[in-house]
Amino acid sequence: MNPPPDRPRILIVDDVPVNIRMLGEALRKEYDVRVATSGAKALELAGIKEDAPDLILLDVMMPGMDGYDVCRRLKEDPATRGIPVIFITAKGEVQDETLGLDLGAVDYITKPFKLPIVLARVRTHLGLKRKTDLLESLASIDGLTDIPNRRALDQALDQEWRRASRAGAPMAVIILDVDYFKRYNDRFGHAAGDECLRKVARTLTAALLRPADLAARYGGEEFAAVLPETQLEDAGQVAERIRVGVADLALPHPDSEAAPVVTVSLGVAATWPEPNRTLQELVEKADRLLYEAKSSGRNRWKGEALT
Ligand code: GH3
Ligand code: MG
Ligand code: MG
Repeated sequence: MNPPPDRPRILIVDDVPVNIRMLGEALRKEYDVRVATSGAKALELAGIKEDAPDLILLDVMMPGMDGYDVCRRLKEDPATRGIPVIFITAKGEVQDETLGLDLGAVDYITKPFKLPIVLARVRTHLGLKRKTDLLESLASIDGLTDIPNRRALDQALDQEWRRASRAGAPMAVIILDVDYFKRYNDRFGHAAGDECLRKVARTLTAALLRPADLAARYGGEEFAAVLPETQLEDAGQVAERIRVGVADLALPHPDSEAAPVVTVSLGVAATWPEPNRTLQELVEKADRLLYEAKSSGRNRWKGEALT
């Protein structure tokens, strides 16, 4: 049996359940439909990270928080900003509709509505949302390992460098490279090599414990981590956790001269961003330290502060 297809999720928000019954029934044939009868409940359901709706059909007139307020709050929160909102309302005046669209709604449908038209518009906006999501993921996620790619890494480095400069906070960068990976490919084949890289990517991601830490694929068999608000000593501990984590995968690598299993070498650089220092210097330092870790035996990390 095939697993059930991942149906688009639609959240209908209306304080009068009878209003949405017909619409809900029609949408349920194609979509995963949820219902909220208050603005507060709508915000709660929209904010659930792994389960957020792909589209919200939002009534305007509701007691307490009205639909405009709900829309405003959705658009203020980066986590829910991307969810398209369609107002469905009896308020058909030009200024009502304008206000709704100004608040960031993608569409405005007045009651009484014709069901086929609502369904067609829903389909249109779900299609656009899907494409936007896809383009976003293509632009920043590495296709092999499913972790952020070089482009996302560069953006994060830039952003964190500027943030740390403003805040007078430290930051650290780790660059790591799989040891004797060419030999791994040569012995086990490229597909096994790819699988190895996926496992290293997962291990790296799991070794980063703080929410603001970012793991990325730097390119080839090289990875990187950006650690905001982190000094050298703590970054060294993270590097050690990554090193141990990869070794503990226990992927046999008989041709490695560093260990009988797949290992990584790491360079760790940390600093307080200041006007006389540059992000490029920090990254180059991490790169140089990685090279030192390689030449002094691999399966180890070298760290230094940029001063
Ligand atoms: P060192 O310990 O000095 O890092 O040696 P190494 O063999 O790991 O380094 P080298 O740079 O000589 O070889 C890197 C290898 O990584 C060669 C290349 O084919 C392989 N590689 C790079 N990207 C990928 C990939 O996406 N998939 C696979 N399977 N292999 C890759
Ligand atoms: Mg290598
Ligand atoms: Mg390399």
